[in-house]
Amino acid sequence: MTPSQSRSSVDALILQALHRETGRAIGAYGLLDRLRPAGVNGLPTVYRALARLSEAGLIHRVECLNAYVVRAHRTHAGPPVVAVCDACGAVEELTSPGIGRSVAAVAARARFALETAVIEVNGRCRLCRETKEFGEAT
Ligand SMILES: [Zn+2]
Repeated sequence: MTPSQSRSSVDALILQALHRETGRAIGAYGLLDRLRPAGVNGLPTVYRALARLSEAGLIHRVECLNAYVVRAHRTHAGPPVVAVCDACGAVEELTSPGIGRSVAAVAARARFALETAVIEVNGRCRLCRETKEFGEAT
């Protein structure tokens, strides 16, 4: 980070990079590569910005990919369901109020004070499934 770059400008650069790759998760090293032309040179700077953006609820960390995506639904009640395609790497955020209620009920039964939850599911995206089905039909 150059002296002229504020935290908020690094945060904005990361959000822009993640928005440009909608449907894809980007790791910290990938973000650093994208931000180098703007003068961001340190991985710690990227990690600090990612922590701030996560804390603000603007991005999700996709644990299975060790990468980040822009949060698609900021107003949904309950935890987001992050669907990761194992074939093409596409990432889609899904919502379901029912899942939120279920997670809250499980936590309450365990007397666990739930603060945050992200549910990740892995499989094949619609496009990969359609491509596979088309391939099998021929
Ligand atoms: Zn796919």
